[in-house]
Amino acid sequence: MRATTITETFNTPLVESFDVVVAGGGASGLIAAIAAARAGAQVLLLERQSCLGGTATTAYVAQYLGFYNNDTQAVWGIPFELTRRIMAAGGSDDFGQYMMGAAAKNPITVHHFPFNPEIVKIVADEMAEEAGVRVLLHAQVSSVIRDGDIVKGVVVETVAGRKAFGARVVIDATGDAVVAQAAGVAMHDDDISVDARQPNTLCFRMSNVDVHKFRALSRNDKRALALKGLQQGELFWENMSFCSTPGGTDAICLMSRIMGKDALDETDASEQEKIGRRQIKSIVQFLNREVPGFAKSILAGIASRVGVRETRRIRGQHTLTAEQILSEQTFEDAIALGCGPMDVHEPNGTGIALSIPPGPFEIPMRCLVPLDTERLIVTGRAISATHEANGGARHMATAMALGQAAGVMAAVSLDQANSTRSIPSAAVRATLRDQGAALSFADCIALAKQHERH
Ligand SMILES: Cc1cc2nc3c(=O)[nH]c(=O)nc-3n(C[C@H](O)[C@H](O)[C@H](O)COP(=O)(O)OP(=O)(O)OC[C@H]3O[C@@H](n4cnc5c(N)ncnc54)[C@H](O)[C@@H]3O)c2cc1C
Repeated sequence: MRATTITETFNTPLVESFDVVVAGGGASGLIAAIAAARAGAQVLLLERQSCLGGTATTAYVAQYLGFYNNDTQAVWGIPFELTRRIMAAGGSDDFGQYMMGAAAKNPITVHHFPFNPEIVKIVADEMAEEAGVRVLLHAQVSSVIRDGDIVKGVVVETVAGRKAFGARVVIDATGDAVVAQAAGVAMHDDDISVDARQPNTLCFRMSNVDVHKFRALSRNDKRALALKGLQQGELFWENMSFCSTPGGTDAICLMSRIMGKDALDETDASEQEKIGRRQIKSIVQFLNREVPGFAKSILAGIASRVGVRETRRIRGQHTLTAEQILSEQTFEDAIALGCGPMDVHEPNGTGIALSIPPGPFEIPMRCLVPLDTERLIVTGRAISATHEANGGARHMATAMALGQAAGVMAAVSLDQANSTRSIPSAAVRATLRDQGAALSFADCIALAKQHERH
């Protein structure tokens, strides 16, 4: 059918203006908003869902990865503070060791921070409020206000209709680069077809699990179970591990795998939720019947939306590559440290390629600055990176470290006539260090010592 268009005319109320508007209140956006507010900016945070936290809360991805590279803690600052607050609220027992890909060919052991997503929702509200961030939930950013290549605010679909908010600087933390796309920023995602992108996963929670019994299984047992489930068509990838929340009777499972669907296509986005639920029905039957520890377990919840690993990546002033990560390239304008793991799901198979980079790697500020657009900063999984580099820089601790940098960049740009194209990286780095972030290996060691003393 030939596409036709209709013409609409709106009178959209311009409600209020802020120094910084952050679109998306997930891992990166939450921390960006707090960092910008703590650096003195007046901040509005817009989130389409009913809670903050992003993939951690609404998609039930219930463990932070990327705080540690082997035994070196590389992400500190506000993201680390968030982990302490989650623990204090009873939402986690602290960092632990986790075998990633336990049922795959090449598992790796990493530090993770498992949590109860419901507690993260509460802590995220508290931390945003304490920082003085104005939060609007149920607020879907749909467009930008722009004047040529200058972004001047956003248009938002709220429960009370369409509203506009002015901004001296906008931070796009939507994961999908929604604002950047609307502003006409060039993207990298056209370098890879939808079929070659990382698959998506609808996570679910089982209650009444005998976690100890399951944990007693060997890696070989887990792999044998996964391969049996795959062969019988009841499981969908080589995965037989889960995150368990404090109390140890629940298992949050990342076991569905939805391939070849574009999360930004309205039909695919809808279809993949149904595919995810169909897969979960089958996985739960397999767990109950075959897997030690799950005999009496029940399906307690399905995440409110499919978790999306990869959509758009902007073309920024610098593009992070896997070679730069693996060679530990240093950058004068480094504003965050990533830890990996390099984590790329086989696009057409059932496995996953996992490895740990040789050391914490530096991410330059220029990856967050789109080409040819002014007053816009992009953070989180949509930064300028290749598909392979994105596999190592998309974990939530990295997204949060980038978020802290984006918030500080926005605050610093206010003193530079709001220009985001040439923010002085020295000023950003100094403020980030004042906010407790690590920007180099030496910082990681110093912060670890400091933390030991307290
Ligand atoms: C299935 C799966 C498993 C994963 N496993 C792990 C893991 O074990 N550990 C780990 O650390 N990482 C994991 N990741 C990666 C990690 O979760 C993401 O890469 C990370 O959350 C990216 O952070 P972000 O802030 O860019 O995006 P998100 O955390 O997704 O946040 C984006 C936010 O923006 C909001 N938003 C989007 N569009 C709009 C709009 N138009 N208007 C307003 N708000 C909007 C969203 O609702 C969301 O809250 C996994 C990802 C997936 C999908």
